[in-house]
Parts: sequence; C-alpha cells; structure tokens
Amino acid sequence: MAIGRAKKQSRPTAARAAATRSNSAKRTASKAQAAKPAARKGAASKRAASRSAAARKSPPRAKRLGLLERLAAGPVICAEGYLFEFERRGYLQAGAFVPEVVLEHPDLVEGLHRDFVHAGSDVVEAFTYYAHREKLKIVGREKDLERINRQALRIAKKVARSTGTLLAGNICNSNIYDPADPKSHKAVRRMFDEQIGWAVAAGVDFIIGETFSYAAEAELAARAIKGTGLPAVVTLAVHRADASREGLPLSEAAKRIEAAGADVVGFNCIRGPWTMLPLLKEVRAAVKCHMAALPVPYRTTPGEPTFQSLTDPHWHDLPGGRPFPTSLDPFVCNRHEISEFARQAYALGVHYLGVCCGAGPHHIRGMAEALGRQPPASRYSPDMSKHAFFGTNKLLKEHNRAFSGKL
Ligand SMILES: [Zn+2]
Repeated sequence: MAIGRAKKQSRPTAARAAATRSNSAKRTASKAQAAKPAARKGAASKRAASRSAAARKSPPRAKRLGLLERLAAGPVICAEGYLFEFERRGYLQAGAFVPEVVLEHPDLVEGLHRDFVHAGSDVVEAFTYYAHREKLKIVGREKDLERINRQALRIAKKVARSTGTLLAGNICNSNIYDPADPKSHKAVRRMFDEQIGWAVAAGVDFIIGETFSYAAEAELAARAIKGTGLPAVVTLAVHRADASREGLPLSEAAKRIEAAGADVVGFNCIRGPWTMLPLLKEVRAAVKCHMAALPVPYRTTPGEPTFQSLTDPHWHDLPGGRPFPTSLDPFVCNRHEISEFARQAYALGVHYLGVCCGAGPHHIRGMAEALGRQPPASRYSPDMSKHAFFGTNKLLKEHNRAFSGKL
C-alpha cells in the first residue's frame, strides 16, 4: 500500500505548494504593479524555493520508481483487455483478434489508455498483443508487422510519459509453438525477439509475456525478455485443467518460468476471478518472485472454470454454440466482485494485479480503490445519498423517497 500512501501524501504537499505559489504571486502583484518583470522574477524564485522545499519534504515520487521498486512497496495495477473492448466498440474483428485499430484509429487507442490510467492503472501496456507474425499473416497484413508494433509503442509511450505511469512492451502466445517440434521453438524465439527489439527501441520500462498455455513457451519468453536486461512479467493462461498445457502442475510450471528469469510470474486471461484465486494460493508458496493475477471479469465456476467453457441456458442459438467470445455479456463481473478479488489476491501476496479481456475502466477503478488508491476517476465514485429515490440528502423530495420501494 506504500504507493497508495505516497500518492496520497504527495497531494496535500502539492496543494500546499500551489497555495504558496498563489499567495506569493498575489503579494507580489499588489506590491508592485509597475515592476512586473522583476516581480515575476521574484515570484519565480519563490516558486522554485517552495518547490525544492516540497521536494525535500515529500517522499520519492512514485512515477520515478521502476516496476520492481513499485512491487516491493505495494500493488501495481495493469489494465488490459484492449482486444475485447475494441471488438465490442466495432474497431476490430472477433476471431483473428488482431489489433488493426492501432493503425486505423490511433486516437481511440490513446483514449482507451488514458481511460484506464484515469481509472487507476499504473501501467500502459503497448497494444501489441497478437501483433505478431503468425496473426498478421492470417489477416493478410504481415507487411504491416513493424508499423503496427512501432505505432502501438508510440501511442502507449505518449500516454505513459505524460501520466507518470510505466510503459510496458508486450509479447504473447505465438500459436505456432509445438512441444514436439524444435524448429517451432526457434521460430517462436525469432517472433519474440523482433517484437522485443521494437519495444526496447521505444524505451519500455519492462516487458510483459502473456497468455501462454505451455510453460515451455513461457520460459522461452522469459529468456528472450531477460536478454534485454529489462524486468519480465510472464503469465500463463490456464485452461480447464489446473495444469500447464504440457501437463505440468502449475507450481512446477511457475518455478520453471521463474528459473528462466521472470521477475513476476502468474496468470492472465481465460479464468475468471474465482477460478483463478485458488491457483494463486497454490503457486504463491512455490515461487520466491513477485506474482501476477489478471483474470477475465467473467463469472466462471468450478464446473465451467474458463470463459470459453461457460454455457448460457438463458439464450438459444449462440454463434458457435457458446457465449465465448461475443455473447459473454450476462456473465460480466460487477466492479465489487473485482474489488473483492483484488483484496483477496493482494492478501495472498500477489502484488501485480489487473483485469484481462472484458475489462472496463469501472473494474480498474474498483480494483484501485480496493487497494487503497484514489485514482482521478474516484472523483466520480458513486454517492447514492444524492439519488432522487434511494438517497438520504435533505434536499430530496420525501414523496420520491417514500416511493423507492415501488421502483
Ligand atoms: Zn485476455
């Protein structure tokens, strides 16, 4: 929680500094209207003095800390799930799930990054998920590979640098990795290296390797990222069985990924909060490094533990016979469930937290507030005391409040 504290402490300090600046400016202005340049110079030096005094008093600014320092001090929130959000809005296609929106509507990608930072994300992850050679080949855009990666990194960097958040590069499951085919391992490593190269050139603070089914592919990713010297966050996607795709117990899989160099290991995607939480308990005891948990915000159950396995008895004629991926709406977790997940995961010692496919800014704000934060979006956190029918505010009309039971 130290980051939350640091942020809270820095606000009053900043407010005091601003008040000092404003007062000194007023005093200067009333003393000598005629000597404006000199007065401005004096005010400027006072401002500089008050700023340096504030800097001495305040704790180190959170934005100057790297990922590992932030994790050592408390939680780090990383909003994800851009593919699902842009599919829902009509800017990319379900199926291939390639982030073409990066090239076609960069302004919208920047806007989504800003929404998530406003809601409490500490990380801006470049939208390069599935912007890899295999996926771009499938949509006939392999020639755009470098352009899409560089553009995604540029957009994310702009937001991260202007908000004091961390900039993350991103690689993911290749879909060509085959445990039985060593040639595929080399091809995967080449795919990782080219994306990592663009991320490093963009000046990322760390690199995320995510949604790996095979522990061995995740190990490849960890080694590729660590080759750059940057921190590596490497997460597995766990399907119906509580094991990696090659059949390793998750604690063993996590140990191998840690041994391959990952600074943070854990899980993202596929599992909802309540079918991911038991996995965290199992793995926390097995590894020494930091852990990550970024579930999908869907109500998965022990009988249907993944968002692909969910069934919906309330609607017939689902495309493909399943709610995944376009008919998951009835299963979306509310913000309070995500808050509760964040509390429980953090209590287990999982410091790197986020939400994957399906995430909305309200989920991220719920997570941030559960971890003791007050992100800018908290200015608009609910206050039902002002509601015309359910509220308690004295100005509200009693005849409406009395009617609340009939709403
Ligand atoms: Zn996901």
